[in-house]
Amino acid sequence: MRELLFLQVKPGCLFFNQLTIDNVNRAKISLIIVIIFELSLVVRNILEYGLSMHYYVIFYSVLLVVSIGSLLLLWYLPNKEQHIRFLDRFIFLYYLFFILWGGALTALDQGSYGQVTAYLSNVLVAVLMYHCSMRKFVVLQFVPLVIVAFAMHYAQPNEAIFIGHLINMTIFMVFATIGSRFLYNNAAQNHLQRELLCETNEELEALNTELEYLSVRDELTTLPNRRGLYRYLEQHLHDEQQVVSAVILDIDAFKHYNDFYGHLEGDYILQRVAKILQQQAEQHRAFVARFGGEEFMFICFHDDAENVEDFAEDVRQAVFQAHMPHASSPFAAFLTVSLGVSNSHSASTVNMTQLFKEADEALYEAKHRGRNGVCRFDDVAIGV
Ligand code: GH3
Ligand code: MG
Ligand code: MG
Repeated sequence: MRELLFLQVKPGCLFFNQLTIDNVNRAKISLIIVIIFELSLVVRNILEYGLSMHYYVIFYSVLLVVSIGSLLLLWYLPNKEQHIRFLDRFIFLYYLFFILWGGALTALDQGSYGQVTAYLSNVLVAVLMYHCSMRKFVVLQFVPLVIVAFAMHYAQPNEAIFIGHLINMTIFMVFATIGSRFLYNNAAQNHLQRELLCETNEELEALNTELEYLSVRDELTTLPNRRGLYRYLEQHLHDEQQVVSAVILDIDAFKHYNDFYGHLEGDYILQRVAKILQQQAEQHRAFVARFGGEEFMFICFHDDAENVEDFAEDVRQAVFQAHMPHASSPFAAFLTVSLGVSNSHSASTVNMTQLFKEADEALYEAKHRGRNGVCRFDDVAIGV
């Protein structure tokens, strides 16, 4: 209950801005209705009494003019988001005037009709259309209530009727306060839920991006994995102007390495090799992925087949020159790699399986020729 009555918002926060924009939209509706009513009342009074200066005509005309002016301002004020504070104060003052206007008319009515309808109906309009914090509500409703009660005390000659009005007004105000708190807290809760939803959506989006990143990465080496390789090719194998080749790399005698140094050391060396391969790929604007086990695949877009063989040779040397000891290798004292280079194909017509098959056959040949070397598919085909 306490929360319900005293929930506060600071100007400048998102909820305050949203609440003010909603209040402005509701104020436009109430202004249009008020203008239609007052206009018809003025016309009716003129038809009935002619152009008299009867106090009703003056009252209706004043409210009519103020309402038309307010509606025009709310309608045509540019950049409403930049004038939130002004708008909130403006609507607040309008409703304050509106309630006091109803109160004054009610006080004047005591001499004739003796009712409190004008005041209470205006209180109701403000409660329904202007949702605000408790502090504002007190100023907007309770201050006029005290003023109207005093005015009625002097305007209503019959003490019993005055007491009756006072009781009715107080009961009305109790329920008006409760109703206003419900409306305000409802708006606050709706806003909080919307914000929560936005936050959850953002978190989900971030999580999705991370998941997508992880799904195309190899955990050990952080290079793209096989799925990352296929995705890369799907995105890049379209350009008719480009020529593409694949280069597969396999670490020589890696089973021996694991057996001799242990699996953990094997993992570490895979990471080191991956780093070297990544550097080489970056230098030659190629793409590299871990194809599986101790095999890596490069994708090179280029103009000339010789370039790719040179590139593969550079990679082989870069690994060898890192001088990573491989005491159990039957082929060299340091870690070595063998590479197979596919033929060059037009990027728009090649199929991935063919590209990989050619590279793999070339690798098989490189292994067959003694490892620590580069072989082209062309050489396999013609049996060089
Ligand atoms: P070759 O020169 O013919 O390529 O011989 P090799 O020993 O490298 O080839 P083989 O295919 O017999 O062995 C590959 C080894 O790579 C076997 C496997 O345990 C090891 N391997 C594959 N993935 C990993 C990994 O993630 N970590 C470690 N430490 N070893 C791996
Ligand atoms: Mg292998
Ligand atoms: Mg191997």
